[in-house]
This record gives sequence, structure tokens and C-alpha cells, in this order.
Amino acid sequence: MSSSFDLRPLIEKKKRELALSKSEIESWIRALVAGRIPDYQSAALLMAICLKGMDFDETLALTEAMVASGDRLAFPGYATLGDKHSTGGVGDKVSLILAPMLAAAGLPVTMLSGRGLGHTGGTIDKFESLPGVSCNLDQRQMKEMLDRVGWTNACASQNIVPADRILYALRDVTATVDSIPLITASILSKKIAGGATHLCLDVKCGSGAFMRTKQRAMALSENLRIIGNRSGMAVFGLISRMDEPLGHAVGNYLELLEAVAYLREPHDTPLMRLVYALGVKLLLKTGVEKTAQNAEQRMRATIQKGAALEKLLDYLRFAGADAAALDRLPRQGFDDLPRRPVLSGRAGEVRALDGYGLGTYLIELGAGRRSRKDRLDYMAGVYLAKHVGDRVEKGDVLAWVYGERGIDGGDAVSERIDGFFSLDASSKPPKPLILHEF
Ligand code: URA
Repeated sequence: MSSSFDLRPLIEKKKRELALSKSEIESWIRALVAGRIPDYQSAALLMAICLKGMDFDETLALTEAMVASGDRLAFPGYATLGDKHSTGGVGDKVSLILAPMLAAAGLPVTMLSGRGLGHTGGTIDKFESLPGVSCNLDQRQMKEMLDRVGWTNACASQNIVPADRILYALRDVTATVDSIPLITASILSKKIAGGATHLCLDVKCGSGAFMRTKQRAMALSENLRIIGNRSGMAVFGLISRMDEPLGHAVGNYLELLEAVAYLREPHDTPLMRLVYALGVKLLLKTGVEKTAQNAEQRMRATIQKGAALEKLLDYLRFAGADAAALDRLPRQGFDDLPRRPVLSGRAGEVRALDGYGLGTYLIELGAGRRSRKDRLDYMAGVYLAKHVGDRVEKGDVLAWVYGERGIDGGDAVSERIDGFFSLDASSKPPKPLILHEF
């Protein structure tokens, strides 16, 4: 390690709940990326931040220093560019549906996404589940795609906010992930570096989310909105409940198929209500539409006219999709693929569906990664036939299992999947999906 940087004065200050200055934060992040700080010192500072917090000035300074640690994308000629971010949900294929709808509605969209790690899948894996597709696009290709297709979504390169890669890995192993200022700087630095002007956030709240309570989710949302706006990006969004997976499909190719099904014809489901709520916000805040009613109508028209589905297919074609696979995609149904039913051994009403448990288990079946090097089985996953609030009789299909390991695993796999459903006898009114808008 070349001439190391001593972080003790900053750790000492934060330990005593004093604010770090902008230049102290900048020096920390510069030295961190240059490899001039031992991990244990950064880890100690992260824990002090986690316990003592950061004020808005410190959080803004951290966000900006993290952006400056790597490349910042720019798309000349686009005064307005939309983006959407979810803080992580199982079965969350909102971006795959929303981005092509917005592009078809006249709002250009740019997104940088990741590959999945842990219990939530990654948007890039869902696109790349179609043979031939590669989302490793550089800035020039992203711009070309924006010009030709109207939206783009690329895999964040190693040089987009390298500071976040280092800090996130340290946070992961030091129990310092769930700090509001650290989450704020982590999310916003990557979004600012991605080049969008307007960011719509879907902050997840519930058993499988970083934010378990509405109060914590509200505090995170407020931080994201204030720091985003202070750094020049319009940030707004909503808080949605994440007590069960979103939609029917969980697994990379299955989620792509479900996105296509939603773009093929109108649906009135919780997933689509969330898509409309986020899309309406983006169309209003970017000035594409003046009223919520017009914005929603404009979005609905993109499905009725087939324009949104075309935008998704155009994206996949540009990203290198195999012609036969792309041709098959819009016509393929869930029952065209090899699968095996999970039958319920009990009767009752679905009270809860453990998305975190299911997402974690699907890693074992090949749908997710434990480490960055793991290879995925793109076909692996489940189609959930029952959701919270549904009545189940003994012998009903709870879910369908896809992918080699899941199908070959037989009853042992069925038992595990059955275990993620909690059933009881009483009937309770459904809880709202959207808890708050900001
Ligand atoms: N998502 C991120 O990108 N960073 C965090 O810290 C938490 C969620």
C-alpha cells in the first residue's frame, strides 16, 4: 500500500458525533479508491457513521465524492432523461415493463443496472436470459441506442462509482448496510453517474426489504429526495410494500416472459398499478404531461397500440438478441416451457409469501448467484399461482417450478417451496401496495 492515509482523526470525530467536512470526506474517498487506507479503518468509520449518522451536508459531500471516484456518463442533446430505481424486490420486473412504456410515451430513459447478487435478481440478468443479448454497452453504444430505440439500459461498468464497489463490499461484511446516509450516497452516486436528469424511486418496505418499517422507509425517501435535489437531480417516487414477490414470475427468463405478457395486453394487477404510478410521476415531473389522468392514458395507449412491446423488442435486438429467440419471445407462454407443479397439502387463505426465503432458495436452484463468478440457469425459477389473499384448497397448484435442478429435485423442492406460503383459516382485507408518495 503506497503512503497510507490515516483515518483515525475522522473516526474519532464521527465517534463523538461531530460532522465531517467536505474536504475530509473527499480525502477519505480518494484515498480509499487509491488503496491507501487499510480496510479496518474504513470499516470502523462506516460503523461510526452507521451509529452516529450523517447530516445532509455530509451525505451530499459523500455522494459527490463517490460520483467523482469514476466516470460520469453524459448524453449530449438530451435535456431530459428519465430513470427509475427500486431498492430491491423479489420478482421485481418493473424496469423491464416501465422503460419501454415510457420510451413509447415520448420520454427518453437511461438506466444503469446490475447483475443479481443475493436474494433479489438483477435487471441485466433478466435481459441477458434471452440468447445473444449482452448489456455490456459503452457510452457511445448507449447514446446510439437512445437515439435509435428511445431508451437504454446497460450494465454499470467497473469504472462507474468504483468507491461504491469497495464500500459496499465492506458494508456487507461489517453489518453496516442499513444506514440511511450510506444507502443514500450509494444509490444516488450511481444514478448521478448514469447521466439521467429525473429519477423516480420505488422504495421497498417490508419483511424482505432493507427498510422493514414505514417510518424507516419514509426517512430514507426523504434523504434521497433532499440529497438528489441538492445535487441537481430531480428525485421523487413512492414507497411500496414488499411482503411478497411482485407478479407471478421469479427467475430471469420467466420474468422477461412476464414483462412481455404485460406489454402484450392490458392487465389490472398490483404490479401494473405500480408501473403506472411510477410512470405517471415521471411523465408529470419531466413535463411530458400536465395531468395524472392524461399521463396514465398516454401510458395505457403504449400497450394498446403495441408500441411499448415494440420498444422492448427493439432494445433486445440492438443488444444482440438471437433472431429466432427474439421471434419466439412474444408468442411464448409459461406452459410452453418444461415445468413441474407444486401442489398444496393444505387448505386456507394465503396469509404471507416469504419473498426473501424464496429468493434465497432460488439461488440453490440456479436462478441467482452467491458469488459474482456463479453461473446462472436462466430458465430456473417459479411461477407463483397463488398470492397473499388467495383461497387455496388441498391439491391446488401453489406454484410451477422451472429449470433443471428444480424439476429434477422432485418432492424435496416442492416441500421447500410450499414452506414459503403461510396459510390460515381467517380472511383479512388486503393491504395497500403503495404506502406513500413523495
Ligand atoms: N442499493 C444500493 O445500490 N446501495 C445500497 O446501499 C442499498 C441498496
